[in-house]
Amino acid sequence: MYAKVIVDITHEKLDKVFEYKVPSELAGVLQVGMEVVVPFGKGNRETNGYVIGISDVCEYAPEKVKEILGLAEKRVAIEGKLVALAAWMKKQYGGTMIQALKTVLPIKKEERMQVKRFVRLLLTEEEGQKKLDEYLKKNQKARARVLAALLDNGVLEYEFVIKKLSVTRDVLRALEEQGVAKIESEQIFRNPIKGQQETWHPVVYTEEQQHAIDCFRENYLKKILKTYLLYGVTGSGKTEVYMEMIACVIRDGKQAIVLIPEIALTYQTVMRFYKRFGERISILNSRMSSGERYDQMMRAKEGAIDVMIGPRSALFTPFPNLGLIVIDEEHEPTYKSEQTPRYHARETAIERARLEGASVVLGSATPSLEAFYFANRGEYELLTLQERSKKQALPDVYLVDMREELKNGNRSIISETLHEMIQDRLDKKQQIMLFLNRRGYAGFISCRSCGYVAKCPHCDVSLSSHNGGKLVCHYCGYEEKNYSICPECGSKHIGGFRAGTQQIEELVKKEFPTARVLRMDMDTTKAKDGHEKILEVFANEEADILVGTQMIVKGHDFPNVTLVGILAADMSLYADDYRAGERTFQLLTQAAGRAGRGREKGEVVIQTYSPEHYGILTAAQQDYEAFYEEEISYRQLMGYPPVEQLMALLVAGEEEVLLETACSYLKKYAEHINEKQVTIIGPTSPHVGKVNDIYRKVLYFKHGSYHALTEMKDKLEQYIDVNSGFRKLRIQFDFNPMNIF
Ligand code: ADP
Ligand code: ZN
Ligand code: ZN
Repeated sequence: MYAKVIVDITHEKLDKVFEYKVPSELAGVLQVGMEVVVPFGKGNRETNGYVIGISDVCEYAPEKVKEILGLAEKRVAIEGKLVALAAWMKKQYGGTMIQALKTVLPIKKEERMQVKRFVRLLLTEEEGQKKLDEYLKKNQKARARVLAALLDNGVLEYEFVIKKLSVTRDVLRALEEQGVAKIESEQIFRNPIKGQQETWHPVVYTEEQQHAIDCFRENYLKKILKTYLLYGVTGSGKTEVYMEMIACVIRDGKQAIVLIPEIALTYQTVMRFYKRFGERISILNSRMSSGERYDQMMRAKEGAIDVMIGPRSALFTPFPNLGLIVIDEEHEPTYKSEQTPRYHARETAIERARLEGASVVLGSATPSLEAFYFANRGEYELLTLQERSKKQALPDVYLVDMREELKNGNRSIISETLHEMIQDRLDKKQQIMLFLNRRGYAGFISCRSCGYVAKCPHCDVSLSSHNGGKLVCHYCGYEEKNYSICPECGSKHIGGFRAGTQQIEELVKKEFPTARVLRMDMDTTKAKDGHEKILEVFANEEADILVGTQMIVKGHDFPNVTLVGILAADMSLYADDYRAGERTFQLLTQAAGRAGRGREKGEVVIQTYSPEHYGILTAAQQDYEAFYEEEISYRQLMGYPPVEQLMALLVAGEEEVLLETACSYLKKYAEHINEKQVTIIGPTSPHVGKVNDIYRKVLYFKHGSYHALTEMKDKLEQYIDVNSGFRKLRIQFDFNPMNIF
């Protein structure tokens, strides 16, 4: 047997893999992820490395391959645990071990680290004086100059010595050899968090908060490690609960990771953690350079911090003694990676916690179907916060049926009800948020008179209109002709819904000429900190109305916002996707939650063409559980996740014919090896069948057991690997994708 071993894991070029023979005493013992001692280089220097693959063939010259000396003695280093996690990710999500390693290991990019060097005196004052006399006697002026300065200061900056004392490096080397001084290097870790630390005052927790905290603590002290789902309405004080749980593991000498969607990782949030934990926290975000991110990872590894806050990738912070992983807003789709390995942070966090003896806390006001499903089955422990911490009432929600508006002759995007309420708030000098639900927009066709939406008869997802007048199901490939009149009611008002934030901004300015209007969308937030600036202006009440996409539903608390208008609630409902209902419910609930955060009670207007759809109705009633019951029975009926498991195989390439041939071979092969009777669907063309002249196709695999799908994936990966015909294509797996393609 032969093992593939990487020796320098901090280096960018992780694909420098060395082959070693597995000694007989390690046969059957050695596993991927283990740390081993190997002879390395010409002098066979003993060094440690990590096993990233085991096979019975030797790709290098077998007679030249050296043998592994043994397993590393000490406790598994933190890297070993992450290598093991990478091996799990490769198995679970597909791709290569190198891709997985690059995802989990903090890698030093080829960019100059900011290293500062110092010269330190090693002698006592008395010894130093004697040596100084000696140098002066021998007329060794440069040495004398440095030593005199060191006697005054103890430590000097290396650069200062070289430049200001104008001595050569040889002089310093000589001082070092004589044991007079020592050159030390110290990595300068930039701390990204600056600010005045305010004093933190203990919080009096509500009964529900206290219960959640106690539950966690009791289990923790009994060393019962679990995954918890903290299900609490917006404003119920989840963040306070996380912080108390984190304090509990820190007291025990452990560290914690807090994952937050990038968009919610605002100054406000970070400051709450800073206030409680001070300098012992750090953050990661996408605006940091890779060097800065690496620095923060190293601070974590070396014990300089206890809490790392950041988006998905912060999950791989190399803490030596991880105690807790918190995933806030656990339902957010950004927790799923869009790059191979296409891992989900929730599942990966649970695996990391299992490997390292940590707990996981998932938090949300609108849990993902997955999380609530597993909580109901007892796999996660459910902790509930039903009350808002400051006892504010939840907002009142009104549903406006836009079909009625049309009947009454109002063709505007803004209903009469919403118009009146906006005017009322402007008069009262209160603020308003208008939210345009554009997520998942995929060109669905709907009737503005009756609300009819064209759906696939086999998959119960919306059909999308394609050029050429076709309606297509992106899941199974079903097609029908596009309509010019509604098949339900005969109305001519059938077609795609198109309105952008900019049009709405203009309309609002026209209808309310005295109002100060701000817009937040991809365009207005492009600039660095654009997002923060707009929110700040609004927070300072320098604007009355904020118009925006889903970006506005998260992050800041605006106590003066008493009205939230949701325009076109249906948009995300009819994304041609099995998660469309879930996404819609989450967005509407979260948007509604922005109203009435202060003293005044809030009101919410939801405008829709389908007020009877359960996703909209339950959101208006703010009834997650009613939504869940409906949604899970739909998933059950259609065999969608989390009830069944879905694997997408994405194939892309420049040559359309080759792509089609490859897909038919893949399907044929899959059918041939299909012992577990996996359902195979497709190939179909995804939403965007061609991007930059790259054609794309997708095959879907469905089964009750995840394992059956990973088995299928393993065999397909092997098949793809040995057939050179696939080399010109990009082939990726995606398990339980966040959308269908
Ligand atoms: P969530 O994360 O559930 O939306 P937060 O933790 O942000 O809720 O809490 C909402 C607001 O209520 C915050 O300003 C927070 O400081 C405050 N808060 C939370 N718990 C308490 C409490 N027990 N007593 C007083 N204020 C609280
Ligand atoms: Zn109609
Ligand atoms: Zn279909």
